[in-house]
Amino acid sequence: MMTSVKSIKARCFTMPSVKTYLDLLKNAHGAKAFKCNVCGAETKSKSLKEAFCNLCESYNKFESNAYPDLSGELFKLNNDALIGKTDLLAEFANRIQKQAMQPKTLYAIGNLYYLASSYEYSNLDYSAKGFMEENSSNMYSSLALTSKSKEFFFKALGVLNQLEGDEGPELEGLYLKFLINMRLKRLSYAKKDLGSMDKLDTGSSVTAYSNMAYCVSTNAQHALNYIDPFLNAGEPNAFYYLARHLAQKKSYDSAESLLKALTSSFRMPMAQYLLLDIQMRRSKTGA
Ligand SMILES: [Zn+2]
Repeated sequence: MMTSVKSIKARCFTMPSVKTYLDLLKNAHGAKAFKCNVCGAETKSKSLKEAFCNLCESYNKFESNAYPDLSGELFKLNNDALIGKTDLLAEFANRIQKQAMQPKTLYAIGNLYYLASSYEYSNLDYSAKGFMEENSSNMYSSLALTSKSKEFFFKALGVLNQLEGDEGPELEGLYLKFLINMRLKRLSYAKKDLGSMDKLDTGSSVTAYSNMAYCVSTNAQHALNYIDPFLNAGEPNAFYYLARHLAQKKSYDSAESLLKALTSSFRMPMAQYLLLDIQMRRSKTGA
């Protein structure tokens, strides 16, 4: 029988143990693999109708058949970008910049630079004696890649604002703006996007997912209320947000166990970097 967070909470009135969450994660293992129609990443979802990419968090609707021509090319650049190599990505970006690019392609490129930057940052060796000298090349690469990611994110926002025109924003465009603003750490803009999404379609999974991401990122008290339904539905990305929430509550052991289980079953760079970040912080503070 499927374990549900709600039934456990009703019994014990406290945050469920990590064992409960690991059991729920096992339920998510039945997820089917698909290719994200925005960044081309191979990712997994339990739902047969819709999914959130494990790599770029884009919303994918399976029946729409909206598989853009460029995601296949981006897929090939994925693996390199995840280990900080962006030469081919830069070539690709230069080549297609001559065409009118869709905002979601601009976002996908920005996101690959963003992940490449996180990779360089995660490779900083804080135990090195000559900190600046030993790490300067990684630090430099990380900053250069961050600025590249910002360039594409702002371009995507520019196109999205133009497209809104007189008819106003659509839900998927708003969600893309939300994702970009979250990555740019422009939380007040992300909150505004969220408000517009709530007005447009409060019952959609895109709005619920955005609420979860925003509440966890701002360490809101009621974050778990937004995470729970996604955990019960077996949405893999919800386990990443749960781990972030647990780390914010200083439940580091639970967060680490969850992230190790998650990264061994799903290709989810954001979970890998969070795990490294927690481990680095703990080694520095002894927490
Ligand atoms: Zn994607």
